[in-house]
Amino acid sequence: MTRRLSLFGATGSVGQSTLDLVRRDPGAWRVTVLTAHSDVAELARLAREFRPDVAVIADPRHYDALKEALAGTGIEAAAGSDALVAAAERPTDLVMAAIVGTAGLAPTMAALAAGYDVALANKEALVSAGALMMAAARLSGATILPVDSEHNAIFQCLAGGRIDQVRRIILTASGGPFRTMSAEEMARVTPAQAVAHPNWSMGAKISVDSATMMNKGLELIEAHHLFPVGLDRLEILVHPQSVIHSLVEYVDCSTLAQLGSPDMRIPIASALAWPERMATPCMPLDLAQIGRLDFAAPDEARFPATALCRAAVAEGGARPAQLNAANEVAVAAFLKGRIAFPAIVDLVKRVMDAEVPAVPQTLQDIFSVDAASRAAAQQFVDQYEHA
Ligand code: NAD
Ligand code: MG
Repeated sequence: MTRRLSLFGATGSVGQSTLDLVRRDPGAWRVTVLTAHSDVAELARLAREFRPDVAVIADPRHYDALKEALAGTGIEAAAGSDALVAAAERPTDLVMAAIVGTAGLAPTMAALAAGYDVALANKEALVSAGALMMAAARLSGATILPVDSEHNAIFQCLAGGRIDQVRRIILTASGGPFRTMSAEEMARVTPAQAVAHPNWSMGAKISVDSATMMNKGLELIEAHHLFPVGLDRLEILVHPQSVIHSLVEYVDCSTLAQLGSPDMRIPIASALAWPERMATPCMPLDLAQIGRLDFAAPDEARFPATALCRAAVAEGGARPAQLNAANEVAVAAFLKGRIAFPAIVDLVKRVMDAEVPAVPQTLQDIFSVDAASRAAAQQFVDQYEHA
């Protein structure tokens, strides 16, 4: 049976991995929506290949270029954030939310509100607006299928028991490229070093987040919303090989884990095919060849981001949205060479020193918190630069 797929963030790392799987089984899917931020040439190329009903470029300045590139194809061209939301409301069987950052929040919320199942890679949306997103899904009956490898692993492990019989959920973390570096060494790392992840090939933002361990902190918040076992039952374990993608321990002390090569096509395939399974071209695990798996407790002195995220989600309300927005600005500033690596988490902490805004009740409230936090973070960036 052919299923319809709307793909948000088609030109990114997760988007391309998704299309790689779709391409291998063309009868299984009909791609109805493709979106990108500003890469018109790539979006148009993908649109010509996958023939969606609509292609949306988020940056409206590129509308004319997209329209021209799709002329004569019968594929509708659209642009801007309202067009993203409208595309998310189009009838579909599955939405792949693979936009990076809170830019993905509005379309993902629209899809959930419409009752469409969402394969969720866009963790920042859940960090900012977790309570609203989970409520929207509950109300409409939409299922959120986690794509983030850890959460996908947990989702799979939870099929082996009941969530009210879980004792601990253990999120594994590779530790990133600077796992063994001293704080002094980390003060001098470059963007190029930070985006070179030892195990995974990913977009720039999440790669930097992995290097600061902010990624694992965001994932803790993500897990708190997806798997409501209580914050004190969520733990982080450093596991440099990224073979075990997370673990679920039940009350009887049985621990289930999901293992696989560090290839995002595995969790993506799990979300696409759920509740079935689909074949992938991924490397099967060769544990004899890997030989050993290592584990260590996280070092929160060198990597304070995870503790910051735990505190933010414990406080709740607007705090996680504030943290996430500040982090997006800090990471962008680091990637542009405007601030040093340790300043990323430092800056997030400073933005969070401000009073927390009122508890957001609506998506609009989240956007207000997001904008205010971005402005505050931007001021700190300017100060760092001139210091
Ligand atoms: P990426 O940077 O490679 O791609 C991001 C996509 O979002 C692109 O298609 C881009 O055009 C689009 N985009 C960027 N800014 C936008 C904006 N303002 N408006 C609309 N679209 C915009 O990112 P990625 O690595 O594919 O990650 C995507 C999401 O998946 C992130 O939330 C990330 O945390 C999550 N994730 C990624 C991986 C991975 O392996 N890459 C793993 C787990 C989770
Ligand atoms: Mg992850």
